[in-house]
Amino acid sequence: MKEISSEEFEKEVINGGKVVLDFYSTECPPCEAVAPKFEGLAKLYGKDIKFVKMFRQQNKPLAEKLGVKSSPTLLFFDNGVQLETSLSGGIKRSDIINQLDNMLAPERVKEIKSQIKPAVSEFDVIILGAGPGGLTAGLYLCQSKINTVLIDIALPGGQVSTTHEVSNYPGFIDPQPGYMLSHNMSEQTKLCGTSYKVAVDVSKIDLDKKEVIIDEFETIRAKKIIIATGTSPNLMGIPGERELKGKGISYCATCDAKYYDDKEVVVIGGGNSAVEEADFISKFASKITMVHQFDTYTANKQAQEKLFANPKISTLFEHEPRAFVKEGNKIITEVENLKTKTRSKLISDGVFVFIGWKPNVELFKNKLELDKWGYIKTNEDMQTSMPDIYAVGDVISKKYRQITTAVADGTIAAIAIAKEMD
Ligand SMILES: Cc1cc2nc3c(=O)[nH]c(=O)nc-3n(C[C@H](O)[C@H](O)[C@H](O)COP(=O)(O)OP(=O)(O)OC[C@H]3O[C@@H](n4cnc5c(N)ncnc54)[C@H](O)[C@@H]3O)c2cc1C
Repeated sequence: MKEISSEEFEKEVINGGKVVLDFYSTECPPCEAVAPKFEGLAKLYGKDIKFVKMFRQQNKPLAEKLGVKSSPTLLFFDNGVQLETSLSGGIKRSDIINQLDNMLAPERVKEIKSQIKPAVSEFDVIILGAGPGGLTAGLYLCQSKINTVLIDIALPGGQVSTTHEVSNYPGFIDPQPGYMLSHNMSEQTKLCGTSYKVAVDVSKIDLDKKEVIIDEFETIRAKKIIIATGTSPNLMGIPGERELKGKGISYCATCDAKYYDDKEVVVIGGGNSAVEEADFISKFASKITMVHQFDTYTANKQAQEKLFANPKISTLFEHEPRAFVKEGNKIITEVENLKTKTRSKLISDGVFVFIGWKPNVELFKNKLELDKWGYIKTNEDMQTSMPDIYAVGDVISKKYRQITTAVADGTIAAIAIAKEMD
């Protein structure tokens, strides 16, 4: 795999035959999660398709010309022609494989796939999700000499790695960059000896058999499972959003805010995430318009005060977005005034959406007892409705979702499991 610059684009990509190009950025957890998948697939498909990557921050004009609006973005080229499909954001290994397979003859795809050998491994405990909840459970289990594997679809760290600053995690006098806090948590657990299988696709979870299949060929079995899969950002669910996701609409300020230097941005939401992230985006953007459905923010007072003192940020209270449209390089956000029902248009260079979260329970939601919002119900030992299945952190039914509460849940589950397995 080769790292290239804009000057080499013509030679390496346009005249390069079949090519996949990864535009990545620094301080971008989804970019770091794609990198090992990209490297692994380069070994598998490398004879037929050229894998190249480009640093987006240093090649901004070319990235913009090719329509790259989010990091990471994978573009595919066949004999100089850019293919219609591009992938961006939290990219799955299987999505890259589908696109690569489409570029090759079916017989060749079969030959390539025949090189993959199935594997099976066994542990005492599988932890699904390596955010603060899962990492803490992993640390305590490891210190109890319980053979544990942490599985994550991204790199370790969870949502903390996409948070620019954390000021309320005890033990640090100064606010900590989120990625440093999550890096330290992860290193502590890894150094103890917990196994990691991260940046993988979780293809199947069988809670009855306590079996997880990753990347479609590796089966992992255990005696107990801890679910620590956290939450994902809610989408608005309005016209234009899916089409423009990663192409001007973003859900990760640490990943994309740096590309809005002196540009105008719309931020949707009014809770803690929206207010704190808007303040962070204002380090780059020249003007931010926030759109919030209520007449006051729901964020904490300290965050609100900081926002009101920020001259770059103004807010349309009691407004809701109704549609997104792209016109040239601009994103038009059509908003409705909830009082007067009149509609108007906001023209910006990009939109960030922070409107709450939904639990990551898709792969097992029919098996477990959930609350009415879809979060997993647990008892005081973090046990779910199924024997030997535990759940911790933001994915469980509880009032307050913070790093400290996820860490506490992970501790409780691990101690309860260690006592049971003793
Ligand atoms: C922008 C932002 C700012 C925040 N600021 C603060 C703050 O200042 N202070 C504070 O205390 N809290 C803050 N929070 C909340 C805090 O980040 C969460 O409460 C905490 O990360 C929850 O930890 P968790 O381990 O439960 O889940 P997460 O951190 O969400 O981690 C879940 C992990 O599970 C993985 N996963 C998802 N699905 C699967 C699957 N099917 N299989 C395997 N793995 C999977 C994910 O990739 C992820 O790594 C903030 C959150 C956001 C989004």
